[in-house]
Amino acid sequence: MVDPPADATLADFLRRAERLLVLTGAGISTESGIPDFRSPGGVWTRYDPRQMTFDRYVESAEVRAMSWAMRREFFAAGARPNRGHLAIAAMEAEGRSVGVITQNIDGLHQEAGSQTVVEIHGTARTVGCIGRRPRWGTPDGCGFSADTTWAFQRIDEGDPDPACPTCGGLVKSATISFGQAMDTTSMDAAAELMARADAMLVVGSSLQVHPVAGMPVDAVDRGLPLAIVNREPTPLDHLADVVVHGSAGDVLG
Ligand code: NAD
Repeated sequence: MVDPPADATLADFLRRAERLLVLTGAGISTESGIPDFRSPGGVWTRYDPRQMTFDRYVESAEVRAMSWAMRREFFAAGARPNRGHLAIAAMEAEGRSVGVITQNIDGLHQEAGSQTVVEIHGTARTVGCIGRRPRWGTPDGCGFSADTTWAFQRIDEGDPDPACPTCGGLVKSATISFGQAMDTTSMDAAAELMARADAMLVVGSSLQVHPVAGMPVDAVDRGLPLAIVNREPTPLDHLADVVVHGSAGDVLG
């Protein structure tokens, strides 16, 4: 277990960690051109989060159309990994990090070269069948899965609400919506990474969305030192050994 001095800098913190666990949120990708949710201009200033629940998706063709529009906008930016993603990938390549747990759905950590990435909110890069009438926020699909471009192609061909080609069920992006049950496989993988880590670095998360918001608390409870890099203060800054308020790319790159 690393033990940073009281006045440790981020550089000290990173030098001492041997098995760093990196926890990222939407802020790591804003420098790639993908807006976060809560900042001015963020996704929630343009789409109504109350409509973006799993149940609303199941109930309403209009909500599904809005979701596909949002996905298309997401990919239209042609985002590429930035200095922050690359720095995090380098830490793993150099054997100093056990991997990344991310709230992001953009796949940019993998594109940057990170090998061990737990996407606890799923990925926008693929879609899957969730069944005809899934209940209790739990997908009930037949197993059909495809690249997201499959759905865009169907929509471009004039079908605004593409159904599963195997069973006729609803098709949804492989992301976890509000009100949708978490994927236990990724939660288990996150716990496994946490068990192997000797320090935690949080980058670009408002730390307001659970379960990620609980992970730094867990880390500190286990005696792991914590560093937070975020543009603005988070509710967990007081728990951290090192806090840097700045842009991820500038700070890590
Ligand atoms: P958030 O929008 O709540 O918070 C992002 C935080 O990052 C903010 O506190 C902001 O000040 C900070 N930030 C913005 N740009 C930064 C930068 N360049 N460097 C450092 N900090 C920066 O996002 P969240 O905490 O990740 O959680 C919200 C949800 O948003 C998650 O569930 C996630 O799935 C989803 N989301 C993902 C993406 C993506 O995949 N890129 C984009 C938007 C939202």
